[in-house]
Amino acid sequence: RAHLDRIAAVDGDIHAFLHVSDAALQTAAAIDARRAAGEKLSPLAGVPIAIKDVLCTQDMPSTAGSKILEGWVPPYDATVVRRLREADLVPLGKTNMDEFAMGSSTEHSAYGPTRNPWDLERIPGGSGGGSSAAVAAFEAPLALGSDTGGSIRQPGAVTGTVGMKPTYGGVSRYGAIALASSLDQVGPVSRTVLDAALLHDVIGGHDPRDSTSLKDVWPSFAAAARTGAASGSLRGVRVGVVKELDGEGFQPGVHTRFREALDTMAAAGAEIVEVSTPSFEYAVAAYYLILPAEASSNLAKFDSVRFGLRVNPPGGGTVEDVMGATREAGFGPEVKRRIILGTYALSAGYYDAYYGSAQKVRTLIQRDFAAAFEKADVLVSPSAPTTAFRFGEKLEDPMAMYLNDVTTIPANLAGIPGMSIPMGLAAEDGLPTGIQLMAPARADARLYEVGATLE
Ligand code: GLN
Repeated sequence: RAHLDRIAAVDGDIHAFLHVSDAALQTAAAIDARRAAGEKLSPLAGVPIAIKDVLCTQDMPSTAGSKILEGWVPPYDATVVRRLREADLVPLGKTNMDEFAMGSSTEHSAYGPTRNPWDLERIPGGSGGGSSAAVAAFEAPLALGSDTGGSIRQPGAVTGTVGMKPTYGGVSRYGAIALASSLDQVGPVSRTVLDAALLHDVIGGHDPRDSTSLKDVWPSFAAAARTGAASGSLRGVRVGVVKELDGEGFQPGVHTRFREALDTMAAAGAEIVEVSTPSFEYAVAAYYLILPAEASSNLAKFDSVRFGLRVNPPGGGTVEDVMGATREAGFGPEVKRRIILGTYALSAGYYDAYYGSAQKVRTLIQRDFAAAFEKADVLVSPSAPTTAFRFGEKLEDPMAMYLNDVTTIPANLAGIPGMSIPMGLAAEDGLPTGIQLMAPARADARLYEVGATLE
């Protein structure tokens, strides 16, 4: 009730939600009744949660921020949503996002942007700005996001919340509307590292319905977070500072907070080492070939027949005319830009020059990470180069928008886990900044343990 009241009070300004559940109170009451009857419930039973609109929910519309899916209610739940329900969390509603998760500001949502609770004139990050803003504005204690190139971590940084992108394959993608299948990963959004860990424990683990799901048995992330919080020590931990992910183009106030965070880690006993990852220079370029290529293929299913919108051209026409009119009306400009980029990069004759080269860069980035993790247990960088920017600032310049992802993209290209944790406010604008921690694939627990020492 408190969260629904809070949503009613502030979401007119913030617009974190695209849909608020009308079943939340009833679900909560049923859980309360079972608790009162003495049933032993899971640790997060009764806790409300907001869900990014890229995730399929069979009782609420799932639009991925696009007009082409307006009003579409999926016939099934995403695995992560099913797991939330099984653990008795209470879905509060669906959160706003850049259309099909393409963007860093939510300005590409077909339903209007979300505003940053810290300053309503500024973006909340993206694509998952709705989830992070909901948590930052106390509209929800927890949320789910998805991260293809930073969409959990960058909104976390600019809204002063925690965001975790798990190891690729650690959390099921079944029922997550695909952007780029080799990069997408679902993960937790929260206000503390322990909260993220508790949620990760619920949603993570093998899912036979996702062919890329890892079969690993994962340790308790909550236990790892509690261990870190209790010890507060980083003795014996080698923290690698990624040389290429700080400095030029980074806002001075972000840089200062980052250096202070390193001092804090050193004071807690960490050994700070510098690592170099020369191929990161090409990460953004490689990402913006691989992502559009995969996205153009994934979005081909929006053909006016199977899902959502259908627009009949005046006077009728062929099947292709109907598809064309539907996609013209249903997709926004950023989605069209990436479909065109992706189909071009995949077309015969260009495949080796673009997609093939980008895949080679991806391998180089993975090698850079492998070398860096020989020198360090965790790698760190600012989570984003700047604090929240103003609406419109980067909208007309796709390159400026894309470069904002420079810090987060490498982890997706390598499939490794990355977490953003608040590291204080930048001096020049009083806005939140975040520190990104990265660990080798499958070492998600290490991020929770180290991250919890920083709070
Ligand atoms: N901002 C990045 C992009 O536009 C990241 C998106 C994401 O992680 N979904 O592709």
